[in-house]
Amino acid sequence: AGAGGEGGDGTPNVAYEDIGGLDRELEQVREMIELPMRHPELFQQLGIEPPKGVLLHGPPGTGKTLIAKAVANEIDANFQTISGPEIMSKYYGESEEQLREVFDEAEENAPAIVFIDELDSIAPKRGETQGDVERRVVAQLLSLMDGLEERGDVTVIAATNRVDAIDPALRRGGRFDREIEIGVPDQDGRKEILQVHTRGMPLADEVDLDSFAENTHGFVGADIESLAKEAAMNALRRVRPEIDLEADEIDAELLESIRVTERDFKE
Ligand code: ATP
Repeated sequence: AGAGGEGGDGTPNVAYEDIGGLDRELEQVREMIELPMRHPELFQQLGIEPPKGVLLHGPPGTGKTLIAKAVANEIDANFQTISGPEIMSKYYGESEEQLREVFDEAEENAPAIVFIDELDSIAPKRGETQGDVERRVVAQLLSLMDGLEERGDVTVIAATNRVDAIDPALRRGGRFDREIEIGVPDQDGRKEILQVHTRGMPLADEVDLDSFAENTHGFVGADIESLAKEAAMNALRRVRPEIDLEADEIDAELLESIRVTERDFKE
């Protein structure tokens, strides 16, 4: 559990086991990021450069941020986040400054992952909605990424729901030249995600995760997480009348008896 949390040292505490249903995508991410960071000599031997930037794209709530955090955690890398919309809301000149600071911080704490959420808001296609500020921020980002060449142990992961809206200059070689689609989970994926989010819950024996997985077509990871949390809250509400708020502790037998039932998921 603890998905999404951050350790005190700037390394997130999300593990690969906290991610459901994205085995193939995770394998690709590991090959692109974890392998070169752990064994740069492999890439030197082959005479190729590891990717500096990887673009994760797909609908909201499918686990893009989770993957970035898990990779950082797994290689014990520092994790720096940039929110696209937030950086664009800065005063004139401050966006570039802040980008530079984040990259400096990453470099100082390398190995590091710089995660850019909602890249499309920083780097919409030139000409479309791109004004002066966007142009300057994209130019700054490109120059910071070009500068990563010699540094080696900083990788940029960006996420977007709108891959077509991104400035093609950012998708060329040496920038975000690897792309991985993070799609809506299928039934097996939903089952795995349900398992992740009910792992710590006292489920009643009758609870059949297979049937929930079957009946939640269209749910993404974030939806499944709320479903599980809501079910647990329903279980809590059921025992609520028996709980004495004034008591120092909850009766151990009552605590032990709490189960999340089939009905709790359906309410
Ligand atoms: P956004 O585009 O909205 O930022 P995202 O793809 O980055 O979406 P996350 O922030 O990774 O989505 O997911 C939100 C939450 O949903 C996660 O903290 C996690 O609890 C849950 N979640 C999403 N996808 C998965 C998954 N594949 N396995 C387990 N949990 C998931």
